[in-house]
Amino acid sequence: MLAIYSKRKPSSCCNGRWRLVQSRRGGFVSQNCEYCGEPRTVGLHQLPDLSCRICNRQLLKFAGADKNYFYRCPSCDLHFRLWELLPHWNVHFDYEGLALPWDRPDIIQ
Ligand SMILES: [Zn+2]
Ligand SMILES: [Zn+2]
Repeated sequence: MLAIYSKRKPSSCCNGRWRLVQSRRGGFVSQNCEYCGEPRTVGLHQLPDLSCRICNRQLLKFAGADKNYFYRCPSCDLHFRLWELLPHWNVHFDYEGLALPWDRPDIIQ
């Protein structure tokens, strides 16, 4: 799966990038140090700029009423939730301090 990183400055623990992952069911997104997995919440301004795969325009970023982050193309109909692009945290990390125990997809299918 595509790796997407936030714009946050490199982590103080490992000088690593911050990889965006799903940390809870229902779309809660966090940014985790790419080396040790240390999680942080992520703000709208830290989300990466992405281009529309159809018309190549820069996508607009916004937060929905449910606090999910969305991307939307200003010129075509393309829109999606950020978390739909992201792997669940335990694909890459052993530990996620922001996850809830019942959010582990290997426990609940
Ligand atoms: Zn780290
Ligand atoms: Zn477009």
